[in-house]
Amino acid sequence: MSNTNYDYIFAGGGAAALSLLVRMQQEGLLHNKKVLVIDKDQKAHNDRTWCFWEEKEGLFESCVIKTWDKIRFTSPGYDAKLNPQPYKYKMIRSQAFYQYCNDVISKNSNIHFVQQTIVNFENDEVITLEGRYTGTIIFNSSIQYLNKDESKYHYFLQHFKGKFIETEQPFFEEGVATLMDFNINQNNECRFMYILPISKTKALMEFTIFSENLLDKDEYERELNNYIEEKLKYHAYKVTEEEFGVIPMYNQPFIKKINQHVFNIGTNGGASKASTGFTFHFIQEESKHLIAHFKKHPSLSNYHPKSKGRFQFYDGVFLRVMREKKVPAFYLFNCLFRKLPAYLPLKFLSEETTLIQDFKILRVFPTMVFMKAAIRELFKLPTYRP
Ligand SMILES: Cc1cc2nc3c(=O)[nH]c(=O)nc-3n(C[C@H](O)[C@H](O)[C@H](O)COP(=O)(O)OP(=O)(O)OC[C@H]3O[C@@H](n4cnc5c(N)ncnc54)[C@H](O)[C@@H]3O)c2cc1C
Repeated sequence: MSNTNYDYIFAGGGAAALSLLVRMQQEGLLHNKKVLVIDKDQKAHNDRTWCFWEEKEGLFESCVIKTWDKIRFTSPGYDAKLNPQPYKYKMIRSQAFYQYCNDVISKNSNIHFVQQTIVNFENDEVITLEGRYTGTIIFNSSIQYLNKDESKYHYFLQHFKGKFIETEQPFFEEGVATLMDFNINQNNECRFMYILPISKTKALMEFTIFSENLLDKDEYERELNNYIEEKLKYHAYKVTEEEFGVIPMYNQPFIKKINQHVFNIGTNGGASKASTGFTFHFIQEESKHLIAHFKKHPSLSNYHPKSKGRFQFYDGVFLRVMREKKVPAFYLFNCLFRKLPAYLPLKFLSEETTLIQDFKILRVFPTMVFMKAAIRELFKLPTYRP
């Protein structure tokens, strides 16, 4: 059993840990600091694909493999190609991201990696199957600590199965990312297809569901295959890679601090947006917030995580409306993309709108349904079940 002291330990070395570590390294905050990253996996492969919208170039711009100027939204009776200016929709594949982060981090010989499985935290110690490591500050993105309270909060999941498709002949409309195609069987849930063309012959096609429970494996496969077959009709194609993912869409505030040494970051720290599952953007915001703090204070004793403010409440109302099913879920997204300029729903979903913009946006939803859900959400009344 080893026991070594570190200034910072990153328990989990995925998107949140590496984003923060790269920023700390680039800001000179790791000078003379001893750092350890512990992950059960070797983070070197394409284990996920991140998409997000951004106005300017971000820190990880060199990892972006595709940018779209146009987005498409399709639902029964409505199909539109929209210009989300000033935003662009972007894709990063994780292998390029891990490589980029490792290149930056490897310049600092005080940053060490171990591939081990974390089992617990005790005060300032990370306990793995193989040893114990002591850290003054520990960032945890590995083990989730959350006591669910079903009487107060909504627990949706964004779950999806995706396939990278390559056609023999040009088929895809390269410049347009289809964020949501609701023209599939909804099964009284929120189900849509997501199509991200990387070129005229390559695309990631994903079957996505927002619901409280996962499906059988076969159902993802069947729905996605049917859609691909129907779309591509007589075009020859092959599947080059697949991905499956589950992202929490919980409106319960996540625990930010386990004790005075262990801080939760990333999905474990509540970075996944409850109403959409989008996380990458919020991970970057969280790391910028931490960097701003570290520039003023060396410790996290007086650190205040960025508050979600009123957006936490909006997410709760939105999830409640989806759970109560008084209107089909696709109709809610339809309201957003049909009645507003495309940048505005994106800005709202990034939690960057002003209060005046919020009013403009909230007015597009069915008033009575939302008013009633908002009142019930405010008083945490039981969810009406259809
Ligand atoms: C397939 C997939 C696609 C996604 N696509 C998008 C997207 O397009 N846009 C978006 O905004 N969000 C997306 N997300 C959501 C979110 O951005 C990612 O999950 C993101 O990686 C979260 O970052 P994180 O650091 O919190 O978690 P992770 O990146 O998962 O990092 C956590 C790390 O902890 C390690 N770990 C876990 N348990 C242990 C343990 N016991 N011991 C040691 N190590 C452990 C894991 O190996 C992992 O490396 C996606 C998620 C998935 C799963």
